[in-house]
Amino acid sequence: MGFTDKTIECADCGVNFTFTADEQEFFASKGYTNEPKRCPECRRARKSQRTGGGGGFGFKAERQMFPVTCARCGKETEVPFEPRGDKPVYCRDCYNSVRQDA
Ligand SMILES: [Zn+2]
Ligand SMILES: [Zn+2]
Repeated sequence: MGFTDKTIECADCGVNFTFTADEQEFFASKGYTNEPKRCPECRRARKSQRTGGGGGFGFKAERQMFPVTCARCGKETEVPFEPRGDKPVYCRDCYNSVRQDA
């Protein structure tokens, strides 16, 4: 099977850009089934926009942490997942030793 260059209209600026055979092959090798919707210029612009703007909330590098109390030693700590009521949550130290005990 072969790929041929394809012309796509950018969803952002409306310019026609070429989705080259090489790029299509690359996309396919990554398992992507969607074609790019934006020209390279707009894609680059969107990437660099991500750190600025966004209504003054442009800071979300950290994963959300949930405050919990360790079920073993009672220490206050944070975990990167939402604690469920049905499972005890441990601080990092206790988690490690609980895992080793099991
Ligand atoms: Zn564009
Ligand atoms: Zn603990």
